[in-house]
Parts: sequence; structure tokens; C-alpha cells
Amino acid sequence: RASVRGQFQTIEPQEIRVVLIEAGQRVLPNFDPSLSDYTLQSLRKMGVEVDLGAAVTGIDADGVSYGDKRLETKAIVWAAGVAASPVAKWLGIEGDRAGRVKVEPDLSVPGHPDIYVIGDAASMLDEKGKPVPGVSPAAKQQGKHVARLIRQKLAGDNTALPFKYKHAGDLATIGKRRAVIDFGWIKLKDWMAWWLWGVAHIYFLVEAQTRITVTVSWLWTHLTGQRSARLITHGEATSRAPLKEIDEA
Ligand SMILES: Cc1cc2nc3c(=O)[nH]c(=O)nc-3n(C[C@H](O)[C@H](O)[C@H](O)COP(=O)(O)OP(=O)(O)OC[C@H]3O[C@@H](n4cnc5c(N)ncnc54)[C@H](O)[C@@H]3O)c2cc1C
Repeated sequence: RASVRGQFQTIEPQEIRVVLIEAGQRVLPNFDPSLSDYTLQSLRKMGVEVDLGAAVTGIDADGVSYGDKRLETKAIVWAAGVAASPVAKWLGIEGDRAGRVKVEPDLSVPGHPDIYVIGDAASMLDEKGKPVPGVSPAAKQQGKHVARLIRQKLAGDNTALPFKYKHAGDLATIGKRRAVIDFGWIKLKDWMAWWLWGVAHIYFLVEAQTRITVTVSWLWTHLTGQRSARLITHGEATSRAPLKEIDEA
């Protein structure tokens, strides 16, 4: 609500309801349960209505159907995963449910040792039998692994070394000064996790110029609460209240 205050002529912040629908029994299921609990409490404190354990079964122009409920709304944000580019289909091979290629342990395509698939388009299990997640660290590690294999092949060595995913930990931001970090050996939450989340994301950006630009932009947003992005909600906006009144509400 704070982020829309004073920004839109036709939206009154106090009328906004944010409803988070999650099919699982807890939010952030890949984190430690204590951090999931903290996240749930934080979201509720921020005014988010969280509905757990009910999968979305339908979305139309007027709302969302989930479990045995119906929520009338025009604003729906789908955040339940992404679909891979249809590489498996192009190659005429077996893909997983999300369309990713089920790769061999060395990241090559089954039956095609000279074709590798990495990153979000690849589907494989790690050494513990858990799926390698669709995140940047996995994509970067796989890129390095395949580069190494290609270098070896050029040198005449065709050993199909298996890829080993190293999971450094999970980080998630929940809101202003609220985040959770699960490195396995250490778990952090609240403002300390939030600052660390920010530092980690800036550290992994490429080029000093991008790091400086993002840092300045984030600090500006943090200190002033102003964002440069705007959402155009109507072709013709008819004001229900002057901006000044919305600001004071
Ligand atoms: C909203 C969002 C937030 C995310 N946040 C995080 C996060 O905080 N931390 C994290 O670790 N990961 C995050 N991820 C996941 C992360 O972005 C991906 O796991 C990572 O980018 C995968 O790298 P990739 O190289 O496989 O694919 P991408 O980075 O998607 O690169 C694929 C490239 O291929 C191009 N391409 C696609 N189709 C074709 C085609 N037919 N021909 C030629 N080029 C093509 C695309 O334009 C793109 O540039 C997030 C993803 C999303 C969608």
C-alpha cells in the first residue's frame, strides 16, 4: 500500500487487498520451516492475506478460482514458476513437465554427446537426488562445466565428467528491511538478512558501473520511497479524489 500512496489518481491505498495464494502448506518451502513461519508472519503484518494449501484452478478476466473459493479481482500476478524455451520439442526428445531437457550427468542431451543444455532449459538431479534449481548460480556453474568439457574435447579428451551442483544457500526478500537467508549452517532473518541480500545481489552484478548505478537507485528508492516505474491502469483516468487527499489518507 505504501508504494502506491500518492501515485495513482484512481487507486485508493486503503481499499487495496493483497491476497497471496500458495498451493503448498507453507511459503518459501525450500527454506527452513522457522524462516517460512517468519515470512508468513511478516507478510501478515504488512497486511497481505495469505491463503495456504489451495492450488489455483482457474483464472479469467474477473478473478481467480482456487480450492473451493473464488476471488473477484481484475489484478492478478502469476508467480508460480516459469516455462523453459521449448528446446526439448525442437530436439524431438523427452522433456520434463516444464518443457526442460532431461540432460545426462555431464549436461549433454541423451544420444547427442556433442549437444549440451544448461541453465533454465536443463532438468537434472543433484548428488542428493534433489532437482538442480532454476537459479543463476546453477546456470553459471553449468556454463563453466560445459566450457571445461569443450576445452577437454578440443584437447582430445572425451571424458564425460558429471556436473556437481554446489548450492551456496537461499536468499529471499519479503519487503522493506525484511528478508530471510538460509545458508544451511547459518539462518538469518529481518533487517540484517535484508542488507546482506542487497549486498549479495550487487556483488554478483557484472561491471562496476552497473553495481554503482543499482546501489544508487536502490538507496534512492529506500530513502525516498519513490520508484521510477509506473503502472498505467486505465486508458482514461477519472480521478476519484485529488492526489493531495490520497496523500493525506
Ligand atoms: C522474475 C525472475 C526473478 C528471478 N530472480 C532470481 C534471483 O533473485 N536469483 C537467482 O539466482 N535467480 C533468479 N531468477 C532465475 C534466473 O534468472 C535464471 O535461473 C537464470 O537467468 C538462468 O540463466 P539461463 O542462461 O539459463 O537463461 P536466461 O538468463 O533466461 O538467458 C536465456 C537467454 O536466451 C535468449 N533466448 C531465448 N530464446 C531464444 C531463442 N530462441 N534464440 C536465441 N536466444 C534465445 C533469451 O533472450 C535470454 O537472453 C529469476 C528469474 C525470474 C524470471
